[in-house]
Amino acid sequence: MKPDTTEILISADEIREMVARVADDINRDYGDRPLLVIPVLTGAFIFAADLVRLLKMPIEIDFMKVSSYVGQSSTGKLTISKDLSVDVKGKDVMIVEDVIDTGFTLSLLKQMLVDRGAASVKICTAFDKPLGRKVDIEADYNGITLPDVFIVGYGLDLDGMYRDYGDIRIVKDNEEQ
Ligand code: 5GP
Ligand code: MG
Repeated sequence: MKPDTTEILISADEIREMVARVADDINRDYGDRPLLVIPVLTGAFIFAADLVRLLKMPIEIDFMKVSSYVGQSSTGKLTISKDLSVDVKGKDVMIVEDVIDTGFTLSLLKQMLVDRGAASVKICTAFDKPLGRKVDIEADYNGITLPDVFIVGYGLDLDGMYRDYGDIRIVKDNEEQ
């Protein structure tokens, strides 16, 4: 049964405005300070590509692919399937995420980059679902706050599909098929 992804929640125009606003805020706060941008693969690749082209400071960019496993302990464990190629020591770092839900992945990733000696670690997310939060973490730069719905498009997938949509869609079960 193919899921129904026809309902647009956020248009491509709204996304463009959001990215411009977030970039303005980062440009204002950092000025000419060089920034190491770390998009979290895979979902953040489109947002990061749009964002970095609007940033005005010198930008270094490197990717990480991580996932978190949360067992009995509340802290959880970070699994790194692609690590950085660069040293974060002494650098101002901006983690770029597609969406924050529980917050487990980001809180573990942020702590790891702090432990590695980054001068500062901030978080920029395209979308935020605060109702899903299970750990106390907030983005420093947040694009659009959403209710607790599952979204696809603009980098976000369902089983690897729909990342290419230019807008954000809600996934519904399609009873008709
Ligand atoms: P969490 O904050 O729960 O640790 O993990 C957030 C990650 O789960 C996101 O980076 C994203 O990969 C995935 N995720 C959370 N909410 C959604 C959603 O609504 N749609 C999609 N496609 N992925 C989501
Ligand atoms: Mg992600």
